[in-house]
Amino acid sequence: MAAYAPPGEVVTDLETPPTLELSDDLGEFSRAPTIEALTRLAREVILDPTYPTVRAWTRSGRGAVGCFPVYTPQELIHALGLLPVSLHGGGESVEISHADAALGSFLCSISKSTLELALTSRLAPFRAFIFPYICDVSRNLEGIFSRVLPGPPTHMLHLPQNLHSAATVPFLVAEYRRLIEKLEKAGGTPYDPDRLATSIELFNAQRARVAELTTTKRTQPGKLTLSESYLLRRLGGLLPRELHLQVLDRVRAELAERPNRARDAIRVLLVGSFCEQPTLDLIDLVEQVGCYVVDDDLLQVHRWYDRVDPDGDPLENLATAYARSTIDIGVRATPTTKGEAILRRVEAAGAQGVIFLTAKFCEPALEDVVLYRRALDRQKIPYLHLEFEERSTSYEQSRLQLETFAESILFD
Ligand code: SF4
Repeated sequence: MAAYAPPGEVVTDLETPPTLELSDDLGEFSRAPTIEALTRLAREVILDPTYPTVRAWTRSGRGAVGCFPVYTPQELIHALGLLPVSLHGGGESVEISHADAALGSFLCSISKSTLELALTSRLAPFRAFIFPYICDVSRNLEGIFSRVLPGPPTHMLHLPQNLHSAATVPFLVAEYRRLIEKLEKAGGTPYDPDRLATSIELFNAQRARVAELTTTKRTQPGKLTLSESYLLRRLGGLLPRELHLQVLDRVRAELAERPNRARDAIRVLLVGSFCEQPTLDLIDLVEQVGCYVVDDDLLQVHRWYDRVDPDGDPLENLATAYARSTIDIGVRATPTTKGEAILRRVEAAGAQGVIFLTAKFCEPALEDVVLYRRALDRQKIPYLHLEFEERSTSYEQSRLQLETFAESILFD
């Protein structure tokens, strides 16, 4: 097993050496002149499992914290002077050769590839890791991380299951305080409510910009592809948020001038990928075969609540935003309103059908699909269910299924 290098040290024993070197100020993103250039760069960053943006950020001694999906309030990490980084596994770039020994076969890919990244020192630039308790897999992964990585602390963020009790918000505030204590010890600056309020405003602005991007995709789906929208959003969990805002401002200006290139395609809702992410090839494929994805579950980090109140006690506001969020995904114990929720989303998006794109062995997503299908069947809304794994390389069968699905709606 490769040794775990302390933050800032160059990792030399990787199976795949770092390929992309970025400048300390990540100026490559400010200078990328077009959306095409930005998304090309984003693709390179995402396919490099050594976290080039984090290596660049931490080179001068700054700290970064890895956040497993879904519900870490990243504002809190930012307020302590650390870079919150969304972890999304190893994607298509990581061969699993160590993690299999610690995890069973019938588990989602993100759990294995995230552990593989840790065991091969690719997570060396991080100061700490946070695992929200979203499912048994994430809970166990936190335990394994704390054993295999002797240096950086890990934290299991417990989430309230009953969202309607008077104790819900105080419970979550207490959990956030536990997290703060740990991050302060991991090199964060001491907690200051005013700084958290400022961070909340910054993240509100980021979410609003991301929402604009998704609105554009819904109302003018020919303006940008799903891949472009995805890559631009994914950068938001990797870059300093101030820089991501600047990037999205430039994207907004460019999109205003771009034509809405309409083509014969069906409007679909893409549901189920709220934790493990499909590969970039699969994301490309969905639109190549004749679909416009007009709403999706990808990258929940930007949408699991709309806006956090910046006034008043900021910790309470963060907890309240979680408890009151109406975003309903498989890892959140809400009353069984899932059927209604999917029908509302279909209607709001003006979707003609639903594609369930779920990670293999992701029980929370699969349980939701059962509930969603019942509601869609009742309303005779067509749907297709595909499963994916991070290391899939051939999509011939998925292509065929997607083409058949799109044509059955187009020529109905
Ligand atoms: S993909 Fe599903 S099973 Fe795996 S960690 Fe995420 S929510 Fe849990």
